[in-house]
Amino acid sequence: MTLDIRRYPVDRLAAVLGMTEHAALAWLGITGTEQLEYRRRGLTDYQADRLAVKAGFHPAVIWPELVEDRIRRYVRVCSACSEPFLPVDSGRRHYCSHACYSAAKKDRDRRYMAVKKERGKHRAINDAPTCGNVHETADSCPEPVTAG
Ligand SMILES: [Zn+2]
Repeated sequence: MTLDIRRYPVDRLAAVLGMTEHAALAWLGITGTEQLEYRRRGLTDYQADRLAVKAGFHPAVIWPELVEDRIRRYVRVCSACSEPFLPVDSGRRHYCSHACYSAAKKDRDRRYMAVKKERGKHRAINDAPTCGNVHETADSCPEPVTAG
C-alpha cells in the first residue's frame, strides 16, 4: 500500500472547464470547507479521477502526469529477473512472466529438496542407536549403544 500524497492542482480542471476554481468546483458539487481543502491542497488521485470524469473528461486530459504517476505507483520489480513490470491482476504477482515464475519455482524446489536431503541425513545420524543424546555425528557419541 502506497500513501497517496501526490496532489493535482484544481486550476487545471478550472482551465479545461473555462471557469474559475470556485465556479468549477461548485458546478461539480464541491462547496464549503471541502472546496477550500481541494483548492488549498490540490486533489488526490481518486478525487482528480472522480471530478474529471464528472466534468466529462478523462483525468489524463487535465493532468497528463497522472498516468505516469499511476504507472510509477503500481510498477513492480520481478523477483526472478529484476525487470520492472505492471501486474495485470490485483498486484499479488511477484514475477513478470510465467517463465520467471517457473524458473523461480524450480529454484525454490531444488533448494527445498537440498534442505530436505540434508535434514534426512541428520535424522539418520540422530536416529542411530546411541546413548540417547543428540550428537553432530554418530561417531561423536562417547557411549555408543549397540542395536538390538
Ligand atoms: Zn521476470
